[in-house]
Amino acid sequence: MISFYPGPSRVYDEIPLYVREAHKKGILSLNHRSEEFVAISKRTVKLLKEKLDIPGTYSIFFTSSATECWEMIAQSLVQKESIHIYNGEFGEKWFDYTRRLIPQSRGVSFDCEKELDSDSSVFSTGELICLTQNETSNGTQISNKTIRQVKKTNPNHLIAVDATSSMAGIWLDFKAADVWFASVQKCFGLPAGLALLICSPRAIERITSIGEATHYNSLTFVKQMMDKWQTSCTPNVMGIYMLMKVMSHVEHIGEIEKRSIKRYQKWMEYLGGANKLVPFIKNPKVQSFTVVPVTGQQEWLVKVKSEAKKRGFLLGEGYGRLKGSSFRIANFPAIKEKEIRSLQRFLSPYL
Ligand SMILES: *Cc1c(COP(=O)(O)O)cnc(C)c1O
Repeated sequence: MISFYPGPSRVYDEIPLYVREAHKKGILSLNHRSEEFVAISKRTVKLLKEKLDIPGTYSIFFTSSATECWEMIAQSLVQKESIHIYNGEFGEKWFDYTRRLIPQSRGVSFDCEKELDSDSSVFSTGELICLTQNETSNGTQISNKTIRQVKKTNPNHLIAVDATSSMAGIWLDFKAADVWFASVQKCFGLPAGLALLICSPRAIERITSIGEATHYNSLTFVKQMMDKWQTSCTPNVMGIYMLMKVMSHVEHIGEIEKRSIKRYQKWMEYLGGANKLVPFIKNPKVQSFTVVPVTGQQEWLVKVKSEAKKRGFLLGEGYGRLKGSSFRIANFPAIKEKEIRSLQRFLSPYL
């Protein structure tokens, strides 16, 4: 079965090799306070910064999921009000999670066919603005330029960005925001159970000045531990090791992004002439490079999905409210060119 699910998704072919190697080297039982762990942690952070173009001054923390990052941000970076700008279900879910902890938080939704208008996204209250760079549910994205503008027009707010289904797949301008996060089961091509939370020096200052310290994953503790390249609880050592191996082998994000965009353009050309299966999002200015949602008549989609499964292709279900009216195709780096070609060959009679 070839997985085109946009998370958990196809992993790199080398993963089983890394697992065997980790077992042989004793990594599977490695103590997380040991020198060996510290070396792995240090090297992973170094490689992430090099390969993804993350500024040297930023801090990187290991967490367990993007959902955990939503809560950590609400706990440790917001006191009164966080503002959530969203056009789809992941952004809305983030808002819902935050609201349970910070009831005064505010949600602002926008049309998924339109670019986020930074001129009307100026806020006089609130401390943190939350954006979902790549909305996995509907296949839209917010450009680096728009994120930069939101930051510019709101100089007193911290900007937090959920890049779960795009980080390691496209080039992100980390300087344009203060907090970024992603879990590794999407563009990183790794099994689930690990995520990264990335903070600017300004975010670190805010963490320190708020000093929230009532949870095991309070960023105050997490930061103190990471100052020693460690974590506040026993982390997913295997996941971190595999991340290190993957990061040492992948190309620089500039090269990866070129390929992601080329493949996205190919998908759009491919679906361009179709009439029974068409791109769910019509506006090329907001289409995601890494998640391609497809729409059509409901019965037709059911048929295509079930035939695909029989032929060994796992397509992503539509997400949430879009479950029946779409399916999604992951355009993640670990997917191979020939796998895309064979999925396109399979889909051709259904277009
Ligand atoms: C997958 C996804 C999440 C949730 O990730 P978990 O690791 O399961 O918590 C959050 N946000 C976006 C945009 C996602 O694509």
